[in-house]
Amino acid sequence: MTTDKHRIVIVGGGTAGISVAARLLRKGHSDVAVIEPSDTHYYQPLWTLVGGGQAKASTTARPEASVMPKGATWIKNAAATVDPDDNTVTCADGAVYEYDVLVVSPGIQLDWNRTEGLQDALGKDGVSSNYRFDLAPRTWEFIRGLRSGSAVFGMPSGPIKCAGAPQKIAYLASDYWRRQGVLSDIDVHLVVPTPRLFGIPAIADNLDAIAADYGITVHTNAEITSVDAAAHKVGVTHTGDGGSDTMLNFDVLHAVPRQSAPEWIKASPLSTGDPNGYVEIDKHSMQHVRYPNVFSLGDAGSSPNSKTGAAIRKQAPVVVENIESLLAGRPLSASYNGYGSCPIVTSSHAMLLAEFDYDLNLTPSFPLLDPTKPHRSYWYLKKYGLPFMYWNLMLRGLA
Ligand SMILES: Cc1cc2nc3c(=O)[nH]c(=O)nc-3n(C[C@H](O)[C@H](O)[C@H](O)COP(=O)(O)OP(=O)(O)OC[C@H]3O[C@@H](n4cnc5c(N)ncnc54)[C@H](O)[C@@H]3O)c2cc1C
Repeated sequence: MTTDKHRIVIVGGGTAGISVAARLLRKGHSDVAVIEPSDTHYYQPLWTLVGGGQAKASTTARPEASVMPKGATWIKNAAATVDPDDNTVTCADGAVYEYDVLVVSPGIQLDWNRTEGLQDALGKDGVSSNYRFDLAPRTWEFIRGLRSGSAVFGMPSGPIKCAGAPQKIAYLASDYWRRQGVLSDIDVHLVVPTPRLFGIPAIADNLDAIAADYGITVHTNAEITSVDAAAHKVGVTHTGDGGSDTMLNFDVLHAVPRQSAPEWIKASPLSTGDPNGYVEIDKHSMQHVRYPNVFSLGDAGSSPNSKTGAAIRKQAPVVVENIESLLAGRPLSASYNGYGSCPIVTSSHAMLLAEFDYDLNLTPSFPLLDPTKPHRSYWYLKKYGLPFMYWNLMLRGLA
């Protein structure tokens, strides 16, 4: 196999990879290659609204070619191994690509098989997940079809992308059932591995009130560890003090898989080496802790921020500025403060926009609105404003 060389190689043309590529090209870097196997680029944050019957799945997908920045070299292939001592990435077909600077952004791996029985149950018997493009519309079909019985919504332990998504769909479904006049006939359960519904107490208090208003039974310090689709039951196991071990019946189950770094990252010298296996970077500079010409951002990086597109919007400019410093032989000066945002849709017309940094200080973009409470205007931001900003500004390196 031949070896091709590019000044900057980016692995993954998702939210992070395309944002960084677009910014590099705007700054005049001409030799930028993006390794990306998929024909389609997805705007995943809208999958919650697809599952809640408020958006069409087709509006969340666009051809990858339409988001690939002009001037970037698209290598339509999957990275299989990386040798950071040799500055090379080898793809699934054996092609080898050499780099001066590598940006690693292949996203996170959905470990469906780490919950017993889940993989085989998906898409039928009332079991679905908004974490897959093809399944989000099934979530809505199951929610729409339920008139009485039990519904269970689960969040797994460990870092996941958009940690708010597992509970957002519980609120959207409950809101729909209430508007249909059937909520009182449905026993709704929300199972979360954390001590509270959110890490910031003022926000957790408001979410407790919202869940109570819908009549949702919240199981904290617990997670779903098995799915018996034939019996319509899930096994729940405690994750900490106060959590209980129990079985819950379901007619509708919204499941979220455990998640970790892609296997090839875990097996590479770039990994932290712990079970999650993310690319081991400095949480402020986004530079690899052992290989200075390697950067990572987005869901695959080890920085302990909430894994969201919103975080990437703040990480991408830092990565680009630090790459420029590295190439110019200057010290790296750009720093990421851990900004993340968790837009929690609480009904079909309201959303709470939690924005915070590494220290869980609230960092609201709209300081006039109380960031701990849901607002109607944020719902419009979620449905219309943020998708517009994503496709037209963020992926073009403009926001
Ligand atoms: C249901 C749901 C709701 C969400 N809600 C929100 C929200 O409200 N707000 C928010 O900010 N974020 C939200 N997110 C999270 C957000 O979508 C992700 O954090 C973001 O997309 C991560 O970007 P990324 O580039 O790291 O990974 P991705 O966008 O997943 O892109 C990874 C890319 O790498 C490619 N790839 C994979 N393997 C390889 C390989 N071996 N070689 C080369 N390329 C590879 C993939 O094909 C993909 O294109 C949500 C996610 C989900 C699933």
